[in-house]
Amino acid sequence: MMELARFARKTLGGTFEKIDIERNEVGPEDVEFEIKYCGICHSDVHIADNLFGETKYPIVPGHELAGIVSKIGDKVTKYKIGDHVGVGCIVDSCMKCDSCSKGDEHICAKGFSMTYDSDTKHGHIATNTGYTFGGYSEKITMNERYVVAIPDGFDLKRAGPVLCAGVTMYSPLKHWGALKGGLKVGIAGIGGLGQMGIRLAAAMGCEVTAISTNVNKKKLVEEIGAKHFVVSTDPESMKAADSSLDLILNTISAPHEMSNYFGLLRRDATIVQLGLVVDNHQVNQMAIMSKRIRVSGCFIGGMVDTQEVIDFCHAKQIKPEVEIITASQLDQVYDKLKAKHDSITRYVLDISKSLE
Ligand SMILES: [Zn+2]
Ligand SMILES: [Zn+2]
Repeated sequence: MMELARFARKTLGGTFEKIDIERNEVGPEDVEFEIKYCGICHSDVHIADNLFGETKYPIVPGHELAGIVSKIGDKVTKYKIGDHVGVGCIVDSCMKCDSCSKGDEHICAKGFSMTYDSDTKHGHIATNTGYTFGGYSEKITMNERYVVAIPDGFDLKRAGPVLCAGVTMYSPLKHWGALKGGLKVGIAGIGGLGQMGIRLAAAMGCEVTAISTNVNKKKLVEEIGAKHFVVSTDPESMKAADSSLDLILNTISAPHEMSNYFGLLRRDATIVQLGLVVDNHQVNQMAIMSKRIRVSGCFIGGMVDTQEVIDFCHAKQIKPEVEIITASQLDQVYDKLKAKHDSITRYVLDISKSLE
């Protein structure tokens, strides 16, 4: 077990400070890498604030890691020292169930281990506390299955957000048939997830409609590939797009009425819930019945899709907007994220500079 510096909140409501915690030694199938950058996700703020009531302290957040391989086990086949790699939301799963065998580790029958604040129940990863620590740290070690290759030439600073927001949008687009192009896709909510969804769906050859309450986002969404813009609070705008969409990816993460969007869907079309809404929905079922609308959901994506999305972004030159910060700015950035839900720029923690 080696000791490493991390940036943690020791208690609920505490501030970020440097602590030492142990990581596991490199096993035969493990890859260790030096983390260079870690994206800061809105869900980091929720979990650090114990929104779901299950946060363990001290917490080391971060599930958008990018870095350089520094050590490998003797059975590792996919990586060598010096490779650019990353890790998204998943660091362990049972590896045996039907979902894992199909590359859907995020639907593992035994439950997957998230990159931080998650029990280390599958035994492929160890810590001295029994739960995982995330990417606001110097190094990390895990089974090579959960490590993603970052293509040469893809900026490490921009890779992390692709492994979270990118796969969260890519996976449902692929599952609901958008990858081959030709679908009319609506993206509701234009924040970190929504902007990735617009870029990905447009690059797949789909006709994209951005849906927002904020009339000021029209120019921005058009710049990143949306062909149409619907203001969901404007009945005229909603009426003009009536029954026009095959698929809506709904990224709204605040409590909302999802049936508001049913009118935009064609017959047999699907709405996929992607935002982390914990409150129950009141759904008007008459609208579902009249057009055979399907309501579904999706949470992140498995390892196959995580590798595919970074390769796809590299091929199509899709690069998340990022602002680089150091650990001394973490508390301030968390406060900013708490106040504002819809920025498309991702804050990314520069680990080397934070450790100076
Ligand atoms: Zn995230
Ligand atoms: Zn499994």
